[in-house]
Amino acid sequence: MKPVIVVHGGAGTIVKEYEEGYRTGVKRAALKGYDCLRQKGAALTAVEEAVVVLENDPHFNAGYGSVLNEEGDVEMDAIIMDGRNLMSGAVSAVRCIANPITLARLVMEKTDHMLLTCKGASLFAKAQGIPEIPNEKLITERSRERWKTNLHPGSNPVVSQIGLGTVGAVAIDSEGNVACATSTGGLTNKMIGRVGDTACIGSGGYADNAFGAVSTTGHGESIMKVTLARLIINHMEQGMSPEEAAEAGLKYMKTRVNGLGGVIVVNSSGDWTAKFSTKQMTWAAVQDDQLQVGVYHGEKDTMPVG
Ligand code: ASP
Repeated sequence: MKPVIVVHGGAGTIVKEYEEGYRTGVKRAALKGYDCLRQKGAALTAVEEAVVVLENDPHFNAGYGSVLNEEGDVEMDAIIMDGRNLMSGAVSAVRCIANPITLARLVMEKTDHMLLTCKGASLFAKAQGIPEIPNEKLITERSRERWKTNLHPGSNPVVSQIGLGTVGAVAIDSEGNVACATSTGGLTNKMIGRVGDTACIGSGGYADNAFGAVSTTGHGESIMKVTLARLIINHMEQGMSPEEAAEAGLKYMKTRVNGLGGVIVVNSSGDWTAKFSTKQMTWAAVQDDQLQVGVYHGEKDTMPVG
């Protein structure tokens, strides 16, 4: 099996001045994950490593650079899933750590549970030796500005609040195993304790070796209503290609609950797609030593991996 990795840096409307930063970020993340796959690493490790790159990059709404909740604080959600055995781990409303995706993986591997939230997640992080950092260290000037200007969002929060750079990755490794990972700061001005789609299995992501893997981004409450990741897997189970399944899933979310978003998908044969119903979604993919990047509908810049 030829390995493939696809990453996204959030669906929505991207401010022009940050576009280059987004492109560079997703390329770096995809190459990091591909490097792992090329060295016969597992899909699970590749998606985690790719997402860590994006969590550490202040352009994206995950880890450092996360958006702020109604009281101006960071609370993050993340999920990881292993297509080999349907094991999954997630954290929600977690604070004071740099890489929620790594904590999600520890939840999967070291506990009997699948989702730990707020205080319990922090206690578990401490017990696992994950360094605690002041939550302010995760806040950028840009997220503070965004918070201030969004304190009284317009009449359409669905449109005004998405597109702030949630991150995710899907991969298939040389053994045909698939995995997904998704990480986010959520929505600007969300209520304290709000748990979004990202932390919820079948919404923020899903991975099953029999069919493929999906990571989602967009308006979380809409994604949860249609369990978008699992819906797309269902479509592939019925014989659709990743592209058809992604289109059908996003179309259903738009018509049924007026929700917008984006997805990255890989199937068990290594076919993949990056699709979105928002104006833009930053994504990058590597397959056959070719790196592809896009932001706008129909865009696919291709370059060889150095
Ligand atoms: N889905 C994320 C959330 O609602 C936000 C996003 O993807 O932009 O928490």
